[in-house]
Formats: sequence, structure tokens, C-alpha cells
Amino acid sequence: MMAESYDVVVVGAGPGGYVCAIRCAQLGLKVVCVESRATLGGTCLNVGCIPSKAMLESSHHYHRAVSGELDTHGVAVSGVQLDLAKLLQRKRQVVEKITGGVEFLFKKNKVHRVLGHGCLRPGGEVDVLDENQQLVQQLQAKHVVLAMGSVPVDIPVAKMDHQYILDSTDILELTEVPERLVVVGGGVIGLELGSVWARLGAQVTVLEAQPNILPTMDGAIQKEMMKILKKQGLQILTGSTLQSSQVNQQQGFVTLAYTDKKGDQVLEADKVLVAVGRRACTQNCGLEESGVQLTSRGLIQVDERFRTSKSNVYAIGDLIAGPMLAHKAEEEGVALAEMLVGQSGHVPYDYIPSVVYTWPEVASVGKTEEELKQSGVSYKVGKFLFRANGRAQAAGEPDGFVKFLADKKTDKLLGAHIVGASASELVAEIATAFEYGASAEDIARTIHAHPTLAEVLKEAALDVDDRAIHA
Ligand code: FAD
Ligand code: NAD
Repeated sequence: MMAESYDVVVVGAGPGGYVCAIRCAQLGLKVVCVESRATLGGTCLNVGCIPSKAMLESSHHYHRAVSGELDTHGVAVSGVQLDLAKLLQRKRQVVEKITGGVEFLFKKNKVHRVLGHGCLRPGGEVDVLDENQQLVQQLQAKHVVLAMGSVPVDIPVAKMDHQYILDSTDILELTEVPERLVVVGGGVIGLELGSVWARLGAQVTVLEAQPNILPTMDGAIQKEMMKILKKQGLQILTGSTLQSSQVNQQQGFVTLAYTDKKGDQVLEADKVLVAVGRRACTQNCGLEESGVQLTSRGLIQVDERFRTSKSNVYAIGDLIAGPMLAHKAEEEGVALAEMLVGQSGHVPYDYIPSVVYTWPEVASVGKTEEELKQSGVSYKVGKFLFRANGRAQAAGEPDGFVKFLADKKTDKLLGAHIVGASASELVAEIATAFEYGASAEDIARTIHAHPTLAEVLKEAALDVDDRAIHA
């Protein structure tokens, strides 16, 4: 079989791969992208960011209508009903639209798309296999970009059967609201998807092995979210380690045994979501045979230019170190494409914003207070509550705060942590400020329109110097 020649072969069409392919094409390179899924967009667009946010949005509307929240605005609603089939249908349509959009972008930018499983060969070519592992095409290129992403981690004490014990993909397709849902893992997926089903009426229990939920986030966020989510009706059991799970097929539920500081405990669930992290997709794609080295954590080892241990083979996104986030993968895709044509691509790893789309939302950028303490940096703290903001009161969204951490001597921003309505949008201002090396004073002196939630940022920045006006 004659191998087809390109400048770049990208394996995987998630946010890392598809963005890299488009940027390569914009820069004049001849690009092909191999993707095993029928639709483009990877985990993010098909079974991750986008469908989960569609369901968070729909469930938020439902919950506002049934919880009496609309009533407080003088909007009396009655006879509210959940049409789960329609909710799921809408979510599928959103996914269809957005994945179709990437297909359009590939055509527009002349990125060639190949359907199949990409497998790296020791000679540097990429074989494309069909579902029967038959070779359908061979691709040759000056550069190979690996962007195969990640899949959910499976744990032996709760093996996924995809009927009772589910992963994040399964739970996006549940056709009935479970009465009792246990979520193993109080991280981002656990809290977002746990929130969806709690809003739709499930009794949700979160089992988290660490002493706090969202264990990598700032301690103040952990405490605030714990309080807020409990108030919303989620049962959160921290410091609780799952020991075993037993599916009772006949009765249709799962018995979970776990230990906490009081000893051995038992829980029953109609469905279990396992959300304890994701692992890089490095198996069955020729990495070992081709000499692509992995780190001790099973990620692909790369240098600062995304080069793997094999020449002309690069890796980006969830396959390599760093937060498993779509925007991080995208930025790496762009930076790598620019490096391939001799430009100086750059990813500001210190300022990658991270968001949890619960309600209220959580958003962070930069260092946590715990990290600053550990590294011995002297810092000042500024904090402001949403409760003291006019727009938050008008919107009926008084929960949460903004917390800034700034260098004690220079006032340079080191970290920002938000819990509150629209935190996902507010954090963009701070990420921009970080990019420009801003100080707390810069945010404090910037005019923010009134009344906006963004004024909370200004007040928190003023508070770094103890001069918030509305506190
Ligand atoms: P992926 O998106 O995983 O794409 C890899 C692609 O490669 C896949 O399409 C896969 O089919 C394909 N592939 C794998 N192996 C091969 C092969 N051998 N040959 C051909 N194709 C192959 N991140 C955020 O930033 N914000 C969010 O709100 C968010 N929400 C999420 C919600 C959920 C439920 C989940 C599961 C994840 C979420 N994430 C979110 C994480 C985000 O989806 C990932 O960080 C992101 O998709 C990683 O991009 P990637 O391009 O590295 O890999
Ligand atoms: P995660 O790392 O965010 O959380 C996993 C949680 O499970 C942690 O709190 C951990 O302490 C806990 N845990 C681990 N093993 C456990 C066990 N045996 N028993 C109980 N708890 C256990 O992972 P995730 O929630 O699965 O998400 C995976 C990745 O997807 C994350 O890296 C995240 O960045 C990405 N993601 C991002 C978003 C977003 O940006 N909004 C949304 C969803 C997913």
C-alpha cells in the first residue's frame, strides 16, 4: 500500500488535535487528521464539556422552576414537569451542531479527515485501521502530532458495568432519574454531573476519599462549595474510601461498602457514577513499539517544544502533563503548530483558568493560598462577598466571594479564586490581567460598569489594600 504524504498527521480530533490541525492548515501546511470517532471534537464536544454544560443549563432551569426560586421573583409556576427525553434530545442536538461545526471548519481550512484508529509505526508513519483492526490507509508526514486524549479511570472496587456502575459518558445518557445516585469522587466531574441529577430529583451522595471536595483548589473554595452544595441537598461524605461494590441485579441496586473515620459503613445506590480522574489514551496505538516514552504517571513524556522521545513525533493535550482541560489542549495545539513553522508558540501554564460549572460556579487562576504558604512567598489577601454587590442582589445570586492573592511587596497578582454566579465569565478578566503581569491595584483602578457582578472583582482588589468601599 502506497503511503499518502502530508506535512502533518494529527492523531485525534479533540480540542488539542482539531485546533492544531486547523492552525497548521492556516500556516500553510498540508494536514490530515485521523479520528476513530464518527464525529469530530473529541471527548470535549461529544461526551465532555459541551453535553455536560447543556445538561447543567437545562437542569438549572428545571430546578429554578420547581424549587420555588422563580416564586421569589413573583413568577408563580405550577404543574412543572420534567421531560427528560426532550432534555436529552436537546443535548444531542447541541452536540450535533457543534461537532458538525468542526467538520465545516476542517473543510474550510482544507484539513483532510480520515476515519479510523491511528497507530504509530516504528518508521514514523501512521497506519489507519478499521474497527476489525484491518489496515485501510497509510499516512506519511514530516511531523506526527499525537492528540489521543484521555478516558475515565476504572477502579477495581467499583468496576464499571455501564448499567449500574457508570462512567461520565454513561451518565449523560440516563433515561430515568435515579432515586439514589452515589458519586465516587468529589472532583470536577462528580460535582458537575452530581449537580445535574440532584437538580432533576435524585438523592445524590458524593464519596470523596480526601478530607475535602475539589482537593486541588484553594481551601476557601473547598469550604464554601461544601456549604453551598450541602444546602442544595447533596450529601457529601469526605474522608470516605470506597472498599467494595456489589450489584444486586434482581433488586436493581448497588451496595457500596466504604470506610470513614468512624469505621466501616454501607450505602445503597440505584446508580453509581465513578469519577475519580482520567488517564491518558496511550494503549494500542504503537507508542511502545515506536519508542515513545511515557512518564511514571502514564503520560507521554515531552520537552518544552512538545517533542516526544521519538524524533518528529509530538504530543499535546490530555496525553501530556498539566491540567486535563480543553482550553489547555487547544493552546498547546496552537503553540505546537506555530513552532512547526518556526514561530515561537507559547502556553502560559501559570495562568490557565479552571472552572467548575456547578451553581454557583467556581473559577480559579494562578496559585492557591496553600501553594503560596508552602513556597514561602509573602502575600496579601483581598476578599469581597457577592452579597454586598447590587447586581448579585438584583439577580438573587448572593452566594460566594472573590479572593485575590497578591505579592506583599510588589502587589503583583498571584492567584484569584471565585465562587459565585457567572464566575466562569468573570475569570476571563483576571486571566487577561495575569497575562499583562497586572497588580491588584491595576484591577482596583479599572472602571467596572455598574451594576455588574464584575464589580466584585474591583472591590476584592481594593480589599487587598484594605480599602473596599462597599464592605
Ligand atoms: P480528547 O478530547 O479526549 O480527544 C481525543 C480524541 O482522539 C478522541 O476523539 C478519541 O476518539 C481520539 N482517539 C483516541 N485514540 C485514537 C487513535 N488511536 N486513533 C484515532 N483517534 C483516536 N474541560 C474543560 O476545559 N472544560 C469543561 O467544562 C470540561 N468538561 C468536561 C466534562 C466531562 C464529562 C469530561 C469527561 C471532560 C471534561 N473536560 C472539560 C475535559 C476535556 O474534555 C479534555 O481536557 C479535553 O477534551 C482534552 O482534549 P484532547 O484533545 O487532549 O483529547
Ligand atoms: P478529578 O481529578 O477532578 O477528581 C477526582 C476526585 O476523585 C478527586 O477529588 C479525588 O480525590 C477523588 N478520588 C480519587 N480516587 C478516589 C476513590 N477511590 N474514592 C473516592 N474518591 C476518589 O477527576 P474527574 O472529576 O474525574 O475529572 C477528570 C478530568 O476532567 C479532570 O482533570 C478535569 O480537569 C477534567 N474536567 C474538567 C471540567 C471543567 O473544566 N469544568 C469538567 C469535567 C472534567
